[in-house]
Formats: sequence, structure tokens, C-alpha cells
Amino acid sequence: GATVGILGSGQLGRMLAQSARRMGYRVHTLSPGADSPTGQIADREVIAAYDDQAAIARFARDVDVVTFEFENIAAESAAVAARYVPVRPRGDVLHITQNRHREKHALTAAGLPTARYEAVASLEQLHDAIGRLGTPCILKTAGFGYDGKGQVRITAETDPAAAWRMIGAGAAIVEAMVDFEAELSVVAARGVDGAQVDFGVTENRHVDHILDISVADMPLDPAQTARAHEIAGTVMREFDVVGVLCIEMFLTRDGDLLVNELAPRPHNSGHLTIEACASSQFDQQLRAVCGLPLGETARRVPTAMANLLGDHWESGEPDWAAALADPAVNLHLYGKAEPRPGRKMGHLTASAPSRDEAVRRVTQARSALLRTRNT
Ligand code: ATP
Ligand code: MG
Ligand code: MG
Repeated sequence: GATVGILGSGQLGRMLAQSARRMGYRVHTLSPGADSPTGQIADREVIAAYDDQAAIARFARDVDVVTFEFENIAAESAAVAARYVPVRPRGDVLHITQNRHREKHALTAAGLPTARYEAVASLEQLHDAIGRLGTPCILKTAGFGYDGKGQVRITAETDPAAAWRMIGAGAAIVEAMVDFEAELSVVAARGVDGAQVDFGVTENRHVDHILDISVADMPLDPAQTARAHEIAGTVMREFDVVGVLCIEMFLTRDGDLLVNELAPRPHNSGHLTIEACASSQFDQQLRAVCGLPLGETARRVPTAMANLLGDHWESGEPDWAAALADPAVNLHLYGKAEPRPGRKMGHLTASAPSRDEAVRRVTQARSALLRTRNT
């Protein structure tokens, strides 16, 4: 049988490895540390830094295809792997999406709408950009940000010098603040033959810049839903993606869709596809990168997901039995040993006859798992 190589060690690689092993593939992962969430599932865990190009070359020689679950793999590492086996998605998709400036530029070049933005590389440029974009706006580091890290909101009262210091200077972008009605995402898959599918529009609710709840099949105007599919299709085609990619979007108060950012891999908002669809986002990533036909993406039942962060361990091990008292609820844990605040440890899903009911059940299950301090 074939062997899939995954660069990356987190929960996205773990769930991909679970899909791969279910379909009879062998899985190798390259992780910087042992016993990673992906490594626990893989047949083989190679311990090496993501920029150790000799290790990447050895890793690539032992597998049939390389994909990644972590977008900050150096483009040079992807290029090294590509000398031996197909890397899917291609390294230049990685290169574009790991830098907010390149990403926004590529989106604009593809005719896709984003928030107004400017690239800034000095405090002086930041001053000018704030002057042109107005306040409020958001300063974001160009690379290596996730869960809102490396971002500062700038209002009329903010001292730009302090904001510039806070993100550690360097390359950044400033975006006009979007007064959005809602946030949504479309997870799409594209095969080696160019066939494309997507999982529809998922509504995302964030708390403290971290995804909190996702709900499948956001009820939008048909024209807006069509537009979301169109945007996803354009991204997949224009960037020639083979694999899975998520497009995060804002729905503005005027009813327009703006692309916020891209993730060239399965996405937290797509975890609910494991229960909601016949082929999950991880099954699709596997099928796409292995050159297989894509699977069915229709939602079989309304489903919602709630993230479990390290904060849920604050008063001890959560009460799993209480959360699972509702038989409609499913638990996913990522095998991470240290439940730090803000760290994604797992998630819950609930499927129900309606979206509202699914949200109610998953939220209730999550509340139930918190043991009260005095018991
Ligand atoms: P992720 O964990 O999704 O990779 P990230 O750190 O890359 O997050 P963004 O998605 O850019 O960051 O921003 C995180 C959140 O901050 C967004 O989901 C949104 O709630 C808010 N946000 C970001 N940019 C804007 C904007 N221009 N206008 C309004 N809100 C924004
Ligand atoms: Mg991001
Ligand atoms: Mg984001």
C-alpha cells in the first residue's frame, strides 16, 4: 500500500492520519517533538525541525506523497520534498498563504474582495497607512500568526509606536476594521484532475479571536450562498490547489462577502464534517492528495461544533460523562498532554434536527463538562 507523508504534528495531521489509516494507507509524520497528536496515530513519527532539509529529503524518499497540516513549513522544505515526490498542495500555495501581504495581493490579483489593507515595514509607513485607512484598523504581522496572535487593534487613541513594538516590528499589514454581520468559511477540495467540491457555508463564532463555535449550513440569501461557492471555486482554480483549503470570510452589514484569509489545509471550522458528511474534510484531503476521486460533501444532518480549549481543564479533568449524557454529542480529543489556556485540546459536535438545536446541544454539553470548583 501507499504511504502518505504529513509535515506537521498537530490535530489536523492527527485527523488526516485517522482518515488515511482507515483507508489502508501507511502514514509517516515529521514532527519537531515526540508523541505529537499526529505522531500518536501515524505508523512512523520522524523527529526533526521543519527546516531541517536533510531530514525532509530522507522523509520524502520514504513516502509516496507529501502533504502538510501546518502552513508555516518553509517553502524551501516543500521544494526539497518535491524533488522526490509530489507535494500537494504545491509549495507556492504554501508560500503565498504563509504571508498575509502575499496572500492579500494574490487575492486582489484574482479579483477577489478583501478588507482594505496596506503593507507596512516601518513605523513611518504604519503612520501613513493609519492615516489612509482610518481607525479603527488592525495591525497584523505578515507571518506566523494564528488565533489572533500577532495582531493589535488600533483606535484613534492608540499610540502607533506602541502598537508597532507590540507586534515586534518587521513586516506587517494594516487592515481596515470590517464591521461584519457574521464570519463564515467555506472548506473546499480539489483533485489532481481539477475536480472541485466544497462543504457549503459554515458560520463561525469567535471568542477572544479564537474560533469557539462553528455551525454548518449558514442560512444566507441564495445569491450570497452562490457567491461564497464562486469565491471558493475561484481560489481553488486560480491558486491551482490540489488538496483542501479553507476560505475565511466576513459577511458585511451591506451583505457583501470579503475574504479574510486562506488556510491551505483542513480547518477547525471543517471538523464538523466528520459527523455531518459522508466524506469529511480529512477524507477529502487524503483523496485529493492521493489522486483518488473526491467524496460526497452534502451535510446529512444539521451539525454544530464547539472547541475545547485548555481553559476547560482549569478545575481539573473535565466531566466527559456529563458532556456525553446527550447521545447526539460526540467527543474528539487530540492527545495533547498539557492543557494550557487558549490551547486547542479537542472539540465536541452535536447533530440534531435543526441548526439551532445542534448549537443548543453542543453548548449545553460543553457547559456540562466543567466540574464546579467545590465538588
Ligand atoms: P486563525 O486562527 O483563524 O488563523 P489569525 O490569527 O490568522 O486566525 P485572522 O483570521 O486574521 O487571524 O483574525 C482573527 C479574527 O480577528 C477574525 O476571525 C476576526 O474575528 C477578527 N478580525 C481579523 N481581521 C479583521 C478585520 N479586518 N476586521 C474585523 N475583524 C477582524
Ligand atoms: Mg490565520
Ligand atoms: Mg483566521
